[in-house]
Amino acid sequence: MREFNYVIIGGGCAGLSLAYELEINDKLKDKTLAIIETREEYKRDKTWSFWKVFDHNFDDCVIKSWNNFTINTSESSHELRNKNFPYQSIDSGKFYKKINSKLSGNSNISFFKNLGDINSENSLIFNSVFEGELDKSEMWQHFQGIEIETPKNIFDEEIINLMDFNCDQRNDLHFFYTLPFSKNRALIETTWLSNLEDQSLMDYDLQLENYIKNNLGIKNYKINFTEKGAIPLFYPSFKNDNKTINIGSAGGMTRLSTGYTFLNIQEHSKYIVENIDKVKKVKIFDLGKKYQFLDKVFLRVLEEHPEKMPKIFLDMFKTSSNTVIKFLSNKSNIFEDINIISKMPKLIFLKALFN
Ligand SMILES: Cc1cc2nc3c(=O)[nH]c(=O)nc-3n(C[C@H](O)[C@H](O)[C@H](O)COP(=O)(O)OP(=O)(O)OC[C@H]3O[C@@H](n4cnc5c(N)ncnc54)[C@H](O)[C@@H]3O)c2cc1C
Repeated sequence: MREFNYVIIGGGCAGLSLAYELEINDKLKDKTLAIIETREEYKRDKTWSFWKVFDHNFDDCVIKSWNNFTINTSESSHELRNKNFPYQSIDSGKFYKKINSKLSGNSNISFFKNLGDINSENSLIFNSVFEGELDKSEMWQHFQGIEIETPKNIFDEEIINLMDFNCDQRNDLHFFYTLPFSKNRALIETTWLSNLEDQSLMDYDLQLENYIKNNLGIKNYKINFTEKGAIPLFYPSFKNDNKTINIGSAGGMTRLSTGYTFLNIQEHSKYIVENIDKVKKVKIFDLGKKYQFLDKVFLRVLEEHPEKMPKIFLDMFKTSSNTVIKFLSNKSNIFEDINIISKMPKLIFLKALFN
């Protein structure tokens, strides 16, 4: 069986980002890489959105960037503008195509369906696949989005609605998210923060249909694309041996309070490639103890007081847009952290802290 210097398990966002970063930095000229991926074909399956707080390799896969966004609750609405850090949406179809066409030019890179197809005994392994079933009773962010197209121009394409909490909450936390790609095309998502055991929250089609009709006032539209997902808002136990490095969601790259992962994956890939010759010896990359701690407290409050969360999110966005974006993108300094923390209801957070 063939042997490889590097093996990447899972050729999704993290696996392909890492392979691309290795390739463009000439790390695969005299090293071999096997990518283990079970999917039959690559096609658009997700839209990755985030605030661009640093440069990444995929500007040419961006569907659209925005500088304005709103947050709504049933009581009020808040609008923010930010010129420094645009919010971007990436088309995963373009991302897969760009990377796969680059990788296909290097004969040192091969794809396989199963790890058992190669001999990985002496390889450095990068793993992006969770081990076993994850716990459904924990907190998840689960959602479905549809990209709709309308015959008339309806959307204001300059402003996104990041969170619209003016909807049925059913004792959990629920919001809609609208990304207008053009005046007549938008991605609209219904998003829940809850455990995954309650199937009654998963009537996503009906939720989207009602929201589009009743809240957005759109009667006539066609659906171009659907995406569905569930992001664990907890860190499961990771495989940890001296030849495996976990990457992607399975490597702790998800920010637990928001589900944002894409840009963290890009930063992790760069870190790995910069240190590739000594990667098992350098510090394990993480999102920062500070954010891990604050997100844990935040999720505790969410579990105990989901009804308070719309206002908490709204108040958080009432700081300067730079501060809130940097905080949610794990790039805030201590003063910005204090600013955000000062917007939180003290008693509830203190109780959660000592729980
Ligand atoms: C629908 C959706 C939308 C999202 N939107 C955003 C967003 O807007 N912003 C953001 O920051 N994050 C978002 N996320 C979260 C996160 O960015 C994505 O989940 C991202 O794809 C995580 O990358 P990954 O490589 O860890 O996992 P994946 O991209 O899922 O890659 C894992 C790969 O492993 C393969 N695989 C699975 N089992 C095996 C196996 N046994 N052997 C080999 N291969 C296997 C899968 O086919 C897949 O290709 C979203 C997630 C989903 C599901």
